[in-house]
Amino acid sequence: MTTHFHPALGEAARSFLSREHHLLIDGRMVESDSGRRTDILDPATGNVIATAAEASATDVDRAVEAARRAFAGPWRKTTPAERTRIMLRFAALIETHADELAQLECINSGKPLAACRNGDVAGIVEMLRYMAGWTTKMGGETPNVSLPGEWHAYTLREPVGVVGQIIPWNFPLNMAMWKIAPALAAGCTIVMKPSEQTPLTALRLGELALEAGVPPGVLNIVTGFGNPVGAAIAAHPNVDKVAFTGSGETGRRILQAASGNLKRVSLELGGKSPVIVFPDANLEAAAAGVCSSIFFHAGQICAAGSRLYVHERAFDQVLDAVTRRANGMKLGHGMDAGTEMGPVISRRQLDRVMGYIASGQEQGATLAAGGDTTGERGFFVKPTVLTGVEPGMKVHDEEIFGPVLCAMKFSDDDDLERISAAANSTTYGLAASIWTKDLNVAHKMARRLEAGIVNVNALSSPDAALPYGGYKQSGWGRERGFDAIEMYTEIKAVAINLNT
Ligand code: ADP
Ligand code: MG
Repeated sequence: MTTHFHPALGEAARSFLSREHHLLIDGRMVESDSGRRTDILDPATGNVIATAAEASATDVDRAVEAARRAFAGPWRKTTPAERTRIMLRFAALIETHADELAQLECINSGKPLAACRNGDVAGIVEMLRYMAGWTTKMGGETPNVSLPGEWHAYTLREPVGVVGQIIPWNFPLNMAMWKIAPALAAGCTIVMKPSEQTPLTALRLGELALEAGVPPGVLNIVTGFGNPVGAAIAAHPNVDKVAFTGSGETGRRILQAASGNLKRVSLELGGKSPVIVFPDANLEAAAAGVCSSIFFHAGQICAAGSRLYVHERAFDQVLDAVTRRANGMKLGHGMDAGTEMGPVISRRQLDRVMGYIASGQEQGATLAAGGDTTGERGFFVKPTVLTGVEPGMKVHDEEIFGPVLCAMKFSDDDDLERISAAANSTTYGLAASIWTKDLNVAHKMARRLEAGIVNVNALSSPDAALPYGGYKQSGWGRERGFDAIEMYTEIKAVAINLNT
């Protein structure tokens, strides 16, 4: 295999990429049943950087059996304090290998290296440490019951069992850890399927977990395509829960597949998140926030602020600041110093995004910035701003998952009800951002917005303690915070009649 590595890639990352990657089942790297392999690309160049094993439904069976054995055996018998210690060791090992992981994440997902190092890798360490704290603190309760006679009643919080986790390509490390950490803390065992496009860092995490003392079979990683691997996990009769992050279309398929054994389902799907700028806001800060929210990682973020609403008095100033920033952004390889925005993940994604930009223009929107691809190789789309966008246009209603912002106005004729009705006018409800100095407006808007996450004078709030998930068709359940622990546990009520 000929590989073309970026010159800034370190020795550890090179040596990992050069390996023949397999599946992680029962604590060992094993060949896939079929022996078939998939090319893994650097989206900034289109070059092949590694190949990964393509698992089959039979491989999923093996992984589920290993997870079931580990659940019944070693992991169930580990004390909460031991689980905490193992998870903290896992976090420390990730820190030791932070540069290698950041470089692998950068070269396979396209995100700028500094963001991978300071956002993704630092973020998963925080997530593990936060969830490791819950292990010794999650317990049941002793409800006061009013049954006749004398009773002692309590609840037990127990792990849900073997969990399947299916994740996308935009944040391979973060999406993996948002699911692995609460599942480990709760005492579950895992069959994880990374995206077929970005399986590398999940495999490396799996190795570090073993090194940290996570027993074999607790964390299994099966690489390969949605069909058959993801489909087999979602339908598996011996999997107790499936947690998914990705598109609504695939989410619906997973839900149907999960209905066979009524396994628990959590879904983190797309968004079309509004950013609402009131005229009293710090407009420079708002414009900077808008740009980070939609252009960071080329808009490939479920919570990307893709619909901008600005009061007409501030509209020109904000639009001008946004388009200036958009036109000035340095696009390039994530490993190159100074790169502010990388590529989208694939040729297919590039075509999708360009299709949306064309459809916006066909339906009457006007280009205020970008609108084109760029670069001699790789999958780069220029930061794009559309004005004249209205509900009913595809660019307004649908998630683009690219660096495309739709800018709209409101006026003094619009009260908070009308502004929030416009902001709520999609089938999604993931995130929203409000920019104002008026506390009453901020709190009233926060209540009126149909979104699982509302940020005020901020574009995002990436904290392990804050629940993350969507209203409406943005999904079911919440990741991060104690809500994530709840998704990986069952409650058992135990009642003891003390009179017999
Ligand atoms: P995209 O097609 O843009 O990659 P998806 O939502 O389809 O977005 O993919 C997210 C994850 O879901 C990936 O890991 C993918 O392999 C997986 N997946 C795709 N199709 C299915 C399916 N039918 N069942 C389970 N998982 C799937
Ligand atoms: Mg798909």
